[in-house]
Amino acid sequence: MKLDMEKLIVFLKSNGFIFQGSEIYGGLANSWDYGPLGSELKKNIKDTWWNYFVRNNELNVGLDSSILLNNGVWKASGHLKNFSDPLIDCKECKTRMRADKIIEEFTKEIITDPSDENLERIIKEKAIPCPICKKQNFTSIRKFMLMYKTNQGVIENENSIVYLRPETAQGIFINFKNIQRSTRKKLPFGVGQIGKSFRNEITPGNFIFRTREFEQMELEFFFSKDDKQDWFEYWLQEVNNFLKNKMLFKQENYILREHSKDELAHYAKRTVDIEYKFPFGVGELWGIAHRADFDLKSHMAESKQDLSYLNPQTNQKEIPYVIEPSVGVERLFLATICNAYDEEKVGEDMRTILKLPFALASYKVAVLPLQKQQAEQAKQIFDEIKEELNATFDLAGQIGKRYRRQDAIGTPFCITVDFDSINDQCVTIRERDTMKQERVLISEIINYIIKNKK
Ligand code: ATP
Repeated sequence: MKLDMEKLIVFLKSNGFIFQGSEIYGGLANSWDYGPLGSELKKNIKDTWWNYFVRNNELNVGLDSSILLNNGVWKASGHLKNFSDPLIDCKECKTRMRADKIIEEFTKEIITDPSDENLERIIKEKAIPCPICKKQNFTSIRKFMLMYKTNQGVIENENSIVYLRPETAQGIFINFKNIQRSTRKKLPFGVGQIGKSFRNEITPGNFIFRTREFEQMELEFFFSKDDKQDWFEYWLQEVNNFLKNKMLFKQENYILREHSKDELAHYAKRTVDIEYKFPFGVGELWGIAHRADFDLKSHMAESKQDLSYLNPQTNQKEIPYVIEPSVGVERLFLATICNAYDEEKVGEDMRTILKLPFALASYKVAVLPLQKQQAEQAKQIFDEIKEELNATFDLAGQIGKRYRRQDAIGTPFCITVDFDSINDQCVTIRERDTMKQERVLISEIINYIIKNKK
């Protein structure tokens, strides 16, 4: 089924998944708020990631580090010097753009040398026009710093400047020693973190795909250089398994793209992007990078602290290598919705259906009294099961319409309480994808759902 972004945005708004940020004030560009259903789905995505990569993988532990960090961190990581995008203006229509993006969109090729000189050369040689007004009259390229600046404390001057973190990873590197010492972990081990990151993107857009405020889920996996296991392949497989088995992503909806040697960061040994086929085109969803020992070495040099690891086998100090699988929560949210959204013909009608895995669905069950007379009994059932499963109660309208509403928001099971329920102590449970209905004892509802969930 071909999905259209405009339709998807309307669908997500009208069902309470995502609203425009600051809407009553005319909005704030590219900011989005997650409504009652969206906040549940977002939380479920984060919990599913955390359970898979942190709790249920005995190699890994978790962290929750600060958004504001000492400026030394950004000096060591290279962000203060290099975390900028090539900004270019169209002199005709005054649109501000990223020079690399207009080239990539025009040539459909990946840029291997992102230096300003090279980008300006390509724009000239290929006579690339402004994508908005189609004229060819650009300013030269300037570096645009992507980190948000703010001030810490009561005095605003050069010395009080701090930055909102543009990635969560650095919080992990600077705590490497604390974590290793306090957990007594031996290499190899990983540290996972979920948190907000901020980038003053020149051209945010495509709905929640690229925003200035977003959340990341990052794992930094530390291992010895002498370790013979191919940890890059291991984590690439794990990410793939997660998408396939936990998020139920269809294989045809995403691709793996290996970065060429020219494209790699100077310290990186290997990078693979998992790219999702979004309705607006293919875009990076998840990056898996082999960062070698670049980060720990840089922090050692800048902080003058010993961040090395004493290998108990060799009794030698070493700086571990790192594999980093990094994904944005909102991009995974968007991909999850695109992957799950479907429209099906049922008799003469169409039904919209979100085929979300049980663990991700905002509501796990909906309790529906067939008629007003069953409302009291249905409410009792709802009160009993809501302790165990996130449930919703819906009394309004024809039963068929109520089923459709639950299908559209991805509720896996509907429990209908009818006029027989009071006598036989049974309800009808309807499964979302198959629409199969079964009569189940009220006392068996939870067991039935646990047995049949997908
Ligand atoms: P892009 O090339 O799309 O700007 P990137 O390569 O700079 O992304 P990373 O720095 O590798 O991205 O960040 C890791 C992950 O964080 C990305 O794969 C993506 O899922 C997410 N991410 C990065 N920037 C944004 C953003 N502005 N909005 C939403 N998610 C983002």
